[in-house]
Amino acid sequence: MKYVLVTGGVVSGLGKGVTASSVGLILKACGLRVTTIKIDPYLNTDAGTMSPFEHGEVFVLDDGGEVDLDLGNYERFLDIILTRDNNITTGKIYQSVIDKERRGDYLGQTVQVVPHITDAIQEWIERVAAIPVDGKEGPADVCVVELGGTIGDIESMPFIEALGQFSYRVGVGNFCLIHVSLVPVLSVVGEQKTKPTQHSVRGLRSLGLTPNILACRSTIELDGNVKEKLSRFCHVPMENIITLFDVSNIWHVPLLLRDQNAHEAILKVLNLNGYTREPVLGEWTSRADLCDLLSEPVRIAMVGKYTGLADSYLSVLKALLHASVACHRKLCVDWVPAEDLEVSTADKNLKSYKSAWKLLQGADGILVPGGFGDRGVEGKILAAKYARENRIPYLGICLGMQIAVIEFARSVLGLRNANSTEFDPNTENPCVIFMPEGSKIHMGGTMRLGSRKTYFHGMQSKCAKLYGNRSFIDERHRHRYEVNFNMVQQFEDAGLLFTGKDETGCRMEIVELPEHPYFVGAQFHPEFKSRPGKPSPLLLGLVAAAIGQLDAVLMRSATKTCRRSNGSSHLYEKPKLANGSMDGIYCNGNGLHA
Ligand code: GLN
Repeated sequence: MKYVLVTGGVVSGLGKGVTASSVGLILKACGLRVTTIKIDPYLNTDAGTMSPFEHGEVFVLDDGGEVDLDLGNYERFLDIILTRDNNITTGKIYQSVIDKERRGDYLGQTVQVVPHITDAIQEWIERVAAIPVDGKEGPADVCVVELGGTIGDIESMPFIEALGQFSYRVGVGNFCLIHVSLVPVLSVVGEQKTKPTQHSVRGLRSLGLTPNILACRSTIELDGNVKEKLSRFCHVPMENIITLFDVSNIWHVPLLLRDQNAHEAILKVLNLNGYTREPVLGEWTSRADLCDLLSEPVRIAMVGKYTGLADSYLSVLKALLHASVACHRKLCVDWVPAEDLEVSTADKNLKSYKSAWKLLQGADGILVPGGFGDRGVEGKILAAKYARENRIPYLGICLGMQIAVIEFARSVLGLRNANSTEFDPNTENPCVIFMPEGSKIHMGGTMRLGSRKTYFHGMQSKCAKLYGNRSFIDERHRHRYEVNFNMVQQFEDAGLLFTGKDETGCRMEIVELPEHPYFVGAQFHPEFKSRPGKPSPLLLGLVAAAIGQLDAVLMRSATKTCRRSNGSSHLYEKPKLANGSMDGIYCNGNGLHA
């Protein structure tokens, strides 16, 4: 096993995760099997109890692990399936050591950060690196380990010490350290400054780690003399200094690495030169280029809690992007703060109310993503009602499905105060209820989590067709509440069909309105398994319906010429070309992804 460690210096938010994913991708493109580990030096056991509005979304894995969103980047870039153990946190490591201490495994010893915590970290990395994640048997060839945070943080010290020992243990030729740093450009003189990088490399060295490769974030390409200076002061060969300058969308980052021969530098450090092929990135390159060139928009309104942090809904955005690129449309996301749609907002702030409704009414499709807590719920219900009544394509994910059901109960079944017991525990018409196996006492890791099977009921439904008429699918879950089984018949009699259910037939997984162009709700989160070139069927359905091409897509899916057969994106229509999106996604409001 060869290891590539990716660390970050100077400031956070340099795109270390995307860099690490891109490194993994170019190594994979060279024919190597790649796995990844993300280290988060916080004390939480996992990301499940952390706020997505502060920390970015909680990504959910097949095994139910609630992890850092970087694992989503890894899964999407490398098309792999990770496990909860691929995300190491300080909390997990300390918990394992303290459990061992209580069991008496260290009897007689003083349990200390060095060697007990540092050994536990190294053992964890070695054990998890060996878990196959690409559907093949046996361990991968290379494990990319990303250390969260910035060099010098107090939190990451035990990890740095462990990784220093680890690099020594696995030996030269098996360990490559890539340090992601910042080279600011002073706007007045346009000069690229190397001092912050010099300092952070010095910090790294003082902690016993020597970088093999410098990946420098900068707005423009590094000048030759700047590289020379960095090389001299940081003791890194010139050819191992890569510039990660700003690109139009993140799919270009692996290409940036390839163009600067980063793969050769890494392979040389890992003694793998001559064992691999030239990177094969043809399909990836076409998609990255296509994404820049698309000009005809598809407008999707995302009705959620207002957030300045696009990362709160990262996987949904990515899944929408995958679907739009497959449909050859430029994705334009309009963020609609759900609360602003409520009448009470009109009383307080008429401008926000009007602008929210204007955005919603201008949308080609409406998406209500997952969520918790009652803020904005009534606004989301209004959005679902608007979509249903005006025949606008609607996709409700998890909470968004529950919203669609509540709306239908109120408007069509005439159950005026129908609600989820999450928002109104005493409602007379509880159409969404707490699941019997849930816990209200412990919050961490107690939801219905991870991959569960959904069986289709009736192969004629749009969703069954979108999924290629498979009898069942595996999608990831994260919820505590579910549709009340006792009300299902009432809904179905009125035309709201539950076309996907779990293996018992008692838990509703997919809801559809057959007479509507596209009105779909899923209790699971389809966004987590969407990949570039392999968009999630339900998001693809939303975008295709939004541009009036659902029938063509359904026909393709049903005749099995769908994307799954060759893994490539399909051309539903000739693209209209133009230039200039950031990250392939245009968002209104807060400059997200710019
Ligand atoms: N709050 C809802 C539940 O727990 C929906 C969860 C979600 O959207 N992920 O069931």
